[in-house]
Amino acid sequence: MKSLINKVKKEEKKAMLQKRKCVICQAPARFKVKGLDNLAYCKPCAQEAFRYLSYLEKIPT
Ligand SMILES: [Zn+2]
Repeated sequence: MKSLINKVKKEEKKAMLQKRKCVICQAPARFKVKGLDNLAYCKPCAQEAFRYLSYLEKIPT
């Protein structure tokens, strides 16, 4: 039962992340800052703001 709850929670988090919009241009976000779910960027803005994408996590699609 517990693993089912965890699975649902994981899916919820994924769905929540997929709804994130780029904080700069409001396009659908593809990357987020590691550890910060609120800061999300689309690819061009992420590349502009972070020269190296190693600070960012790819949002699962
Ligand atoms: Zn953007």
